Amino acid sequence: MDDDLRKAIRGIALQNASEHEGKTRNETVISKILGARPDLRSKTKEIIPIISEVVTEINRLSVAEQKSELESNFPELLVTKPKQERVGLPPLEGAENGKVVTRFPPEPNGYPHIGHAKAAIIDEEYAKMYNGKLILRFDDTNPENERLEYYAAIKVGLDWLGVKYDRVKNTSDDMELIHKKGIQMIESNHAYVCTCNQETISNNRREMKPCKCRSGNLDQNTKRWHDMFEKYNPGEAIVRFRGNMESDNTVMRDPALFRIIEGSHPLLMEKYRVWPNYDFAVAIEDSIDGVTHAFRTKEYELRNELYYAILDRLEMRKPKMFEFSRLEFEGMPVSKRVLKPLVEEGQVSGYDDPRLPTLEAMRRRGIVPEAIRKFVLSLGFTKSDTLAPFDTLESFNRKIIDGISIRLFMVTEPVKLVVKNSNVTSVELANHPQKDIGKRRVEVDGVFYVSGNDVKDLQVGDQLRLIELYNVKITKIGSDIETEYSGNDFKTELPKIQWITQKDSTKINILIPKTLFVNEKFNENSLETIQAFTEKHYLELNEGAEIQFIRFGYCRKDSAIQAIYTHK
Ligand SMILES: [Zn+2]
Repeated sequence: MDDDLRKAIRGIALQNASEHEGKTRNETVISKILGARPDLRSKTKEIIPIISEVVTEINRLSVAEQKSELESNFPELLVTKPKQERVGLPPLEGAENGKVVTRFPPEPNGYPHIGHAKAAIIDEEYAKMYNGKLILRFDDTNPENERLEYYAAIKVGLDWLGVKYDRVKNTSDDMELIHKKGIQMIESNHAYVCTCNQETISNNRREMKPCKCRSGNLDQNTKRWHDMFEKYNPGEAIVRFRGNMESDNTVMRDPALFRIIEGSHPLLMEKYRVWPNYDFAVAIEDSIDGVTHAFRTKEYELRNELYYAILDRLEMRKPKMFEFSRLEFEGMPVSKRVLKPLVEEGQVSGYDDPRLPTLEAMRRRGIVPEAIRKFVLSLGFTKSDTLAPFDTLESFNRKIIDGISIRLFMVTEPVKLVVKNSNVTSVELANHPQKDIGKRRVEVDGVFYVSGNDVKDLQVGDQLRLIELYNVKITKIGSDIETEYSGNDFKTELPKIQWITQKDSTKINILIPKTLFVNEKFNENSLETIQAFTEKHYLELNEGAEIQFIRFGYCRKDSAIQAIYTHK
């Protein structure tokens, strides 16, 4: 109890000193500790002397020493609070309680990433806010890109995020209906079949000129439509919306509604070859699914005019469409064009490589879903593009995992340190300095590993403290360091180093993910691997457990021999 209390006081004093140019005051520390620990209010008399001692000790340290101790022993107090932003989303225009329907419509063409997480969380939060429903709809009308494994990966990602949907469907379920709506567009002269080549179409759109197909009669269009199902090759004919070739909005210059794609669809195989474009499919699906509020990223903003125009021509119910900004991290692109080659060429180990922005990778790295949700909600519903620093997500994550992360000793570049004359045979170590998440007993026999870096400047005669254990005095420095036991009093001036016993050590690799792209180029040094020794207790932890390696940072256990660095 006394040790814990002293430690808590020390943390508060260090934190306060770090905010006041290295000086702290008794009064400040007293009020802070009593604020945090109401149970101590009746014991003010007893704790004041301890506070006063600790404050004197801290004020004697240099700013650098304070900083280093704070970073090593109290990283949770270092966290700079994210700016107080509105938490949660603004009210939704036209929303009625119990009647809101939103949808999350991913294309199953890749592994879900942080951008999907943002969309899915916004869709779900709004449905919840109004006691409405969320539909998961696989937008699968491009067989060239879609694969069965991606449908599954998206569901796994949503489960992990804790996003619950009320209904799941595929756009491809509605192909018959979508084709029917296509015919309706043609028969009502709101669409026509164009057989010009791609270059002509592009040039015409740029020059705001119609092609001759545009003036074709109904017979021609109906015949061509049927030929699309049988005769034409891919690229030889497309259905185009009759928009306005002179519109300032280039999207409206007779965009494609259907095209021919040959290729096996993951669910329907070769059943269809005429597939709707995104704009046509999304408008029809949103309308028939009863979606009241649809959200998408703002790069689609210019497509809204087309979305509503299609529904107008078909005299179908129109949902309200809103845009939010895309979410990406600096140096961590989400684009499939970028990620796919990295995976295929083996520059990353797979879609769960901890350097990637995929949900699989985030999970493996030790980011928890709750942190992603809080982070997304903290961004709110801004329209400006969000190129967020990863640190912001880290600070949410740190707050959540700190209390559940077991503290373990870890040494790198181990040096053997032998202690003579100690009769301590075992020590009980707390798994967490404040939280009660158990203790572990470590047998000590006087043979330790310490980090090479911690002892490189020590000389014979120097004393140091093995953290949570005892003090030793160096008697000889060779390939090993020989020492003798020199008491157990806690002395602030002694260097404090972590240790593991030789017997109780296990060797692991720690993967340290770094920024994947620097100046838009793949960073060859984006994954560092270090070797370390930690306590055997590591082996007893479940895979996926969060650990804080003391003076190193938070890591997630990936396997018995590998951990992944989460963040500081
Ligand atoms: Zn044409």
